[in-house]
Amino acid sequence: MELSIIIPVYNEQDNLPLLYDRLKGVVKTLGVSHELVFVNDGSRDQSLLFLHQLAAKDSTVKFLDFSRNFGHQIAVTAGLDHVTGEAVVIIDADLQDPPEAIIDLYNKMKEGYEVVYARRATRKGESKLKLWTAKYFYRILSKITTIEIPVDTGDFRIIDKKVVELLRRMPEQNKYLRGQIAWVGFNQTFITYERQERNAGNTGYTYRKMLKFALDGITSFSDLPLKIVTYFGFIVSGFAFVVMLYAIYSRFVLEDYEPGWTSLILTILFIGGIQMIAVGIIGEYLSRMNTNLRGRPLYIVRDSNLEELNTPKKN
Ligand code: UDP
Ligand code: MG
Repeated sequence: MELSIIIPVYNEQDNLPLLYDRLKGVVKTLGVSHELVFVNDGSRDQSLLFLHQLAAKDSTVKFLDFSRNFGHQIAVTAGLDHVTGEAVVIIDADLQDPPEAIIDLYNKMKEGYEVVYARRATRKGESKLKLWTAKYFYRILSKITTIEIPVDTGDFRIIDKKVVELLRRMPEQNKYLRGQIAWVGFNQTFITYERQERNAGNTGYTYRKMLKFALDGITSFSDLPLKIVTYFGFIVSGFAFVVMLYAIYSRFVLEDYEPGWTSLILTILFIGGIQMIAVGIIGEYLSRMNTNLRGRPLYIVRDSNLEELNTPKKN
């Protein structure tokens, strides 16, 4: 198998027919043996029905059906666990990533790269808030992490089988695939493309999911938030110590003291706030450790037309 294409699907019934046609056009142009691995991430629409129909008439169509919505990163991970291709493409189902760009990705990879990611030159049809938060988030993230996570990219990319095998050995629960892929190294490069508007339907990424994704990215690849807490702790207690000295001095030497309600309240609020933030940040890391310790499977497959799923999978 030369090429596997992973497509996470969450309520994409209106995009799947066109997506399928365009993907088929692409693999025809490339003339490679291929499989299309659709991961149905608990869609509530007719996506699964359509996948069943496709699989019935086209044996290159594989599908995995999750028992519920596990999230985009997990859906892609499940795809990675089951692909067999020498090269593996990850692409969104909503046609924001133009399938035709796979041709460029594939040819670039043949020049001797293990990872070729697609970098957005432009980005159409997304809210100002999303563009702005994404832009700054990725720039800050690349500053505070030790690995180089490319900016202005999503998960649309092609990766070599070697990389896929390494990803399978990273059992983290809070997946941040683009970080993990950057982390493995090898020869990585990019091509640029025009990010399209979503063809039909609505985004499956609510702000809540985006926030979780952002926190996973930071906590998986950076200890800086924890360090900031420590530094803050030192600064605040240093400051409090100086104030304490002054308070003692003014009480006993200057004998000039007011019932200091204002300063008292301010200090309590300030220290209280810092403590809450600190505990919160530590809690975020702890809860991620806890999830990983529980060792639950990342996802549950209800149904699939893949043979190897008849044998139970490790994690
Ligand atoms: N997706 C998924 N599970 C989810 C949310 C999204 O599998 O919980 C899929 C979705 O079908 C699409 C891709 O992930 O193929 C990207 O999602 P979406 O287009 O909703 O995100 P956006 O492009 O708005 O960031
Ligand atoms: Mg999209």
